[in-house]
Amino acid sequence: MARKVLVLGEWKDGMLRNVSFEAISAGKTIAEGGEVIGVLLGESVKSFADALIFYGADRVVAVEHEQLGKYTPDGYSQGLMAVVEKESPDAIVMGHTALGKDLSPKIAAKLDTGLISDVTAIDIEGGNVVFTRPIYSGKAFEKKIPVTEQIFVTIRPNNIPVLEKDESRKGEVESLSPEIKDVRTIIKEVVRKTKEGVDLSEAKVIVAGGRGVKSEEGFQVLKQLADVLGGAVGASRGACDAGYCDYSLQIGQTGKVVTPDLYIACGISGAIQHLAGMSNSKVIVAINKDPEANIFKVADYGIVGDLFEVVPLLTEEFKKLKV
Ligand code: FAD
Repeated sequence: MARKVLVLGEWKDGMLRNVSFEAISAGKTIAEGGEVIGVLLGESVKSFADALIFYGADRVVAVEHEQLGKYTPDGYSQGLMAVVEKESPDAIVMGHTALGKDLSPKIAAKLDTGLISDVTAIDIEGGNVVFTRPIYSGKAFEKKIPVTEQIFVTIRPNNIPVLEKDESRKGEVESLSPEIKDVRTIIKEVVRKTKEGVDLSEAKVIVAGGRGVKSEEGFQVLKQLADVLGGAVGASRGACDAGYCDYSLQIGQTGKVVTPDLYIACGISGAIQHLAGMSNSKVIVAINKDPEANIFKVADYGIVGDLFEVVPLLTEEFKKLKV
């Protein structure tokens, strides 16, 4: 069944986030040959439209308004609802990001439709669109078939492959200027906790440290490895609680959920709450002094040793490979 699918293009720091292209790819599967419409919300966002089209959108609706310069739930929901009302889509897709997690339940409630969140795979089986999502902190997966007429999903970053970029693709770009009013949130300042580097939730490589890293300076050793691999630094709650790094780096049940291609866990014991945030990583390497550490149970490769000896050696070897 061909469907009309709306896909939210999410941007940050003047760039479209990679999850937007993953959402377009998800939208293509759900559309089953139907139309995929990219949606952009912001003050001046039309310039992102081409990229959405190159990655598979058939056309783009850009809602530009001074009230949309920064994300607010009231502003974004009015902007997106204006597109939904105009297009009457069969499905809506957005990233399971901080923004998507905040916005999606509001939109689902307004539309009185079901929401399938944190989707990691989409298949067409027996004429149905089947969505796979993790449950029990990633220990099991469930498959869901939407029961509401309108399909609404959020997709977990780094799980759905992006379609190949095709710069010859063309598509219409339309502007929409709905009234946006009664925005109850005023953003006075955006304070960044992590100043630089790769975004943890979209990183392909993560070098994470635990209490075994022992200090803030110890994390510099991990940062050097992450830099060589073009990755991001993450942490266990143990390391955050000890004050070695900021809580914005925390991975786990009460931190970020990540699925990089490579996760290198250094001095992390592998508590169940930490595994909840990283056990679906594609390849896991654990470095720990204790051969009995739980982290080795989920690791594809384990190195029993002192991280302060092993990590600099890895950094040096990877540097040689890069030359
Ligand atoms: P530890 O358990 O102390 O492990 C340190 C490890 O470092 C040990 O295995 C040790 O052998 C190794 N080590 C020490 N020195 C070296 C060295 N030089 N070289 C190599 N290895 C070395 N935790 C999270 O991470 N994320 C969460 O989101 C989270 N949410 C939680 C929610 C709740 C409700 C609760 C109760 C707990 C939560 N926790 C979470 C905490 C979790 O239970 C663990 O306490 C925490 O993950 C432990 O962190 P750690 O592995 O860094 O520390």
